[in-house]
Amino acid sequence: MSKESKEAKKVMEKVVSLAKRRGFVFQSSEIYGGLNGCYDYGPLGVELFNNIKNHWWRSMTLREDVEGLDASILMHPRVWEASGHVEHFTDPMVDCKQCRARYRTDELPESGACPNCGGKETFTEARKFNLMFRTFVGPVEDSSSVVYLRPETAQGIYLNFFNVQTAARQKVPFGIAQIGKAFRNEINTKNFLFRTREFEQMEMQFFVKPGEDDSWFEYWKEQRMQWFKDLGMSPDKLRFNEHGPDELAHYAKTAFDIQYEFPFGWGEIEGIHNRTDYDLKQHEKFSGKAMKYFDQEANEKYIPYVVETSAGASRSFMAFLVDAFAEEQLEKETRTVMRFHPHIAPINAAVFPLVNRDGMPEKARTIVNDLQKRYRVFYDDKGAVGRRYRRQDEAGTPFCITIDSQTLDDQSVTIRDRDSMEQIRVTDTRIAEYLSDKLGM
Ligand code: ATP
Repeated sequence: MSKESKEAKKVMEKVVSLAKRRGFVFQSSEIYGGLNGCYDYGPLGVELFNNIKNHWWRSMTLREDVEGLDASILMHPRVWEASGHVEHFTDPMVDCKQCRARYRTDELPESGACPNCGGKETFTEARKFNLMFRTFVGPVEDSSSVVYLRPETAQGIYLNFFNVQTAARQKVPFGIAQIGKAFRNEINTKNFLFRTREFEQMEMQFFVKPGEDDSWFEYWKEQRMQWFKDLGMSPDKLRFNEHGPDELAHYAKTAFDIQYEFPFGWGEIEGIHNRTDYDLKQHEKFSGKAMKYFDQEANEKYIPYVVETSAGASRSFMAFLVDAFAEEQLEKETRTVMRFHPHIAPINAAVFPLVNRDGMPEKARTIVNDLQKRYRVFYDDKGAVGRRYRRQDEAGTPFCITIDSQTLDDQSVTIRDRDSMEQIRVTDTRIAEYLSDKLGM
């Protein structure tokens, strides 16, 4: 292993261990040995996750031309025949005859040796493996009762195109946004939250007049990249990757991924696809229901084209987590700090009484009670103040407010900035205003 990849592995190990220790992410069913490819979000994790999803939701639906939707996970099985998932949503899979390890063919090393046992040319013929989870509705488990756990949220949007358009009195061009769970029975899960079997997506399907798809594609591509940057993700770790003609999905005319440079390399966090009229056309064919939209202004009927922005909420969460992680060499120690953008940090501010006497805890509690009306605030009076700062650095809390003896004289507190570690003094009546300014809420 090269020095760089050893270093990268170490960073991932540190992030995973901090995620567990501080309650961002736990392995699912841990006491039973864990369930591969499934994770649970702990107290800090669920706050960070909700903040990311809320920001996405607001960036989409605080516009006049995007509506929200929350469709069911189980859908009519014909949906997945129409969408092409029954036929095409497969990965080529091989087994090692020697050690029985299972791989996606496209992930095998060029050497042809089994990564697990080192056996050479010991693989079975490649066969297609469908990634959709199947289950049954009702008590009878036969082919007529098969349903699938959705592998993407997009189809629920296509099926509701006319419902939403009519109910919300929208006109093309307009979009429908949705956040929800998706399931893929991945052959190999790997890299923590990067490839899991249960995950969340944040998808927006934008319906446009054919011919106007290319310019809308460019527009959404830029918007989505900017969203990650606005939430503080390092610009030099973000890039576009265009799919070549032989990489394009069966439905796509153009596709760009937004990739993030994880410690283990560049990986897709979002796909922006021009899906043309493929999906609506397929649903027209399979359901027998007309999917043509009447454009009053143009006085013509057409099946709209779709520009899709499909972000992995869980993968983005992991990118935000990795990107925030930093270790800084201070004079006497190494400080671990999660540099989350203040808008997505799980805890907005922490409040500390410097010592547990002279009315300082009471004063601190009053400030907490006041701030809690608007913010997630953490009260901590345990241990030396330096250690309390470190605990909040690891949680990524942007501001720590300390009540000291001067507070009791002149009602001023110190506010310490997580990143610069600088402290300023403000009057207690100005704390909320200060936070509001910095947190944008
Ligand atoms: P990949 O090639 O990495 O499997 P994909 O091209 O199949 O991804 P899409 O179908 O475009 O991915 O899904 C959109 C987004 O959903 C991806 O950008 C990713 O963020 C997320 N995603 C897809 N599969 C998984 C998974 N198994 N675990 C976590 N997130 C996923």
